[in-house]
Amino acid sequence: MKWEENVRRVVPYVPGEQPDKPNMIKLNTNECPYPPAPGVQAALAAMQSADMRLYPDPGAEVLIQGLADYYGVKKEQVFVGVGSDDVLSMAYLTFFNGDKPILFPDITYSFYDVWADLYRIPYETCALDGDFHIRPEDYRRPNGGVIFPNPNAPTGVYEPLALVEEILQANRDVVVIVDEAYIDFGGESALPLIKKYDNLLVVQTFSKSRAMAGMRIGFAMGNEKLIRYLSDVKFSFNSYTMNRPTLALGIEALKDRAYFEEITGRIVSTRERVKGELKELGFTFPDSMANFIFASHSRIPARQIFQALKERDIYVRYWDKPRISNSLRITVGTDAEMDSLLAFLREYIN
Ligand code: PMP
Repeated sequence: MKWEENVRRVVPYVPGEQPDKPNMIKLNTNECPYPPAPGVQAALAAMQSADMRLYPDPGAEVLIQGLADYYGVKKEQVFVGVGSDDVLSMAYLTFFNGDKPILFPDITYSFYDVWADLYRIPYETCALDGDFHIRPEDYRRPNGGVIFPNPNAPTGVYEPLALVEEILQANRDVVVIVDEAYIDFGGESALPLIKKYDNLLVVQTFSKSRAMAGMRIGFAMGNEKLIRYLSDVKFSFNSYTMNRPTLALGIEALKDRAYFEEITGRIVSTRERVKGELKELGFTFPDSMANFIFASHSRIPARQIFQALKERDIYVRYWDKPRISNSLRITVGTDAEMDSLLAFLREYIN
């Protein structure tokens, strides 16, 4: 058909499946196994549907001010979006607009190349080393921008801020995006570096550590000028990205720092315990600083374990891709969920 010549064709990103089975154990999309802060429930109960006839605040003022206060930056340094996917997508559209290829690791969040293709941005990948670490020297060549997650996904590998800064030092003339979706599980945020580098955009999300994947809240922090450019593109795309319930509930989640620390602490301690038990079962994995573990077994292929788990309604994530086709990404759930997983694996492997 003639009209197909004008179609913007893309190969879409494939998110992890969202099955809905009564007794499933869902460890496949890095969600938080605990509910959001109690204040979120209270605010939800107090919500009036009558308010929904009105558009939400296009400036998302309450949430932006709340984030600015929480992180000790100015509100002009904060941008919010519909999950960090939306924030990252807008950042690609805004900042990756040159002829040179943008750079990101070969093994990383599989949305990065999809946005590049969608927006017709040339890109090159830089191979992680044998232990899945970034080689900073790879980011010393001419490029149109840099993006990487820290900790990385799906490996969980965290790079110290010295490495992040080394990449920033070598890339003063392009925008560098550090995707910190998993930073709250033990890593140190690059946020303080935004004072020193006006080309650094730090992106985070409420989806993992704040237990609100279903509300879709992501945010970016950076130099005021960077945020202004990002907002200009966003307001040229969709004024009302953040709906009323999202704004009201997001701010409630932010208010409860103690609860946030409690649930992230619990996930970290479960993760450390599970690392030990997986090792005993013959699994190896790069040391994870995220809410998941990227594990391979010494004898049994990952694909086979993935299938066996699925038959028991235990969902983990598997990719049939170069370098990672023998690994399973296992989200850290509650202690009870991890115990069920480990009990099954113990039986299956022995
Ligand atoms: N970045 C990375 C590295 C991720 O793994 C994810 C989760 N799929 C995201 C960003 C997007 O998360 P969200 O849109 O829920 O904030």
